[in-house]
Amino acid sequence: MTTAPPPRFDRSHTDDLAGYLAASPTPYHAVAEAARRLEKAGFTRLRETDAWDATAGGRYVLRGGALIAWYVPEGSPPETPFHIVGAHTDSPNLRVKPVPDTGAHGWRQIAVEVYGGPLLNSWLDRDLGLAGRLTLRPGATRGSAGGGETRLVDVDRPLLRVPQLAIHLDRGVVTEGLKLDKQRHMTPIWGLGTVREGDLVEFLAAEAGVAAGDILGWDLMAHSVEPPAYLGRDRELLAGPRMDNLLSVHAGVAALAAAATAGTPPTRVPVLAAFDHEETGSQSDTGAEGPLLGTVLRRTVAARGGSYDDAARALAGSVCLSSDTGHAVHPNYAERHEPGHHPMPNGGPLLKVNVNQRYATDGAGRGILATACERAGVPWQSFVSNNAMPCGTTIGPITAARHGITTVDIGVAILSMHSARELCGAEDPHLLAGALAAFLTG
Ligand code: ZN
Repeated sequence: MTTAPPPRFDRSHTDDLAGYLAASPTPYHAVAEAARRLEKAGFTRLRETDAWDATAGGRYVLRGGALIAWYVPEGSPPETPFHIVGAHTDSPNLRVKPVPDTGAHGWRQIAVEVYGGPLLNSWLDRDLGLAGRLTLRPGATRGSAGGGETRLVDVDRPLLRVPQLAIHLDRGVVTEGLKLDKQRHMTPIWGLGTVREGDLVEFLAAEAGVAAGDILGWDLMAHSVEPPAYLGRDRELLAGPRMDNLLSVHAGVAALAAAATAGTPPTRVPVLAAFDHEETGSQSDTGAEGPLLGTVLRRTVAARGGSYDDAARALAGSVCLSSDTGHAVHPNYAERHEPGHHPMPNGGPLLKVNVNQRYATDGAGRGILATACERAGVPWQSFVSNNAMPCGTTIGPITAARHGITTVDIGVAILSMHSARELCGAEDPHLLAGALAAFLTG
């Protein structure tokens, strides 16, 4: 019998991340779980439609799949600048269409629309669950005030599968590679028998404990039910779903909770901004292009008696670390990377640079990350694209342009970005959270 090698570091943060990923199959679950964790740290919820009070402490707002949370230290004046951690809650996946019940040739299937840019092949032959939110008829549940309500639902067991065509029926797959048509080839099966309209809604009604007739709408998506797992000779890697970008949301929640208990000085207001719809361009009422962050920040100034000028002063002095995943060097495709910049898992946070403003980082931003990492005792590394490769983008440049806030794009180096199961270094989540906490608390 062999004994497992001793762990090289405290795995408690990464264990906690694995739990967060598993609890967050959709953006709605991701913000609900983040809110639960913030409440445990003493944060309370504010509703956007209510008047806001002026007291110090931790608060958050929820809107759909987005969450903005902040902590006002005792004695901080209204013009105090914000130190913001930005991230996004959504991941590429398969989402249920408005008329979901479909099928052919004795198979029952669910019609899905492709969300964002997933690696489609990674969704083949996986056991998939189904989760999201149901919109219920007003008054359908006890305590609803007649305005309708949403109910989270999570069928976290094997329910669906997108079966790959057998190689015997697709000989070209070897010579020409796998070709997938989003409309024809990505429809999951979920059983045998006759297609019946209302089948999925009835199934979900039973799961959620509501009447099928009370379900008026839904936002549902598939997820792999395989739990996150340590991987590698020394278990130095973590495999799991939705690391892009729940890894950053999780680190941001941990850093903000730490800032609320660490005696943050009154010279800054720590903020976590977790947006939805980054994978489709951020243009929504819960995306980074929307007014949510700016409105919330200005209202926190007004709630403390601040003027328009105080809010402008606060925003002018504010800084955002926009955290998202980046590409670790792939050993089988090293030529796709910039030869002098090979980010490695467990090398610490990535500074993401693109002079064409696909990332918002500049030299001053480099200094901001370097200072935070130095304070936290955390290493960091640089990412820049090979000139021959188009560069991705994120919410960083949007935050900088929309709010005029100095923004630095950072992240964590992963492999298999946009796969249904991604791969990161098991130490990096902890290193990122440390750097973010140092940035928030100063
Ligand atoms: Zn991302």
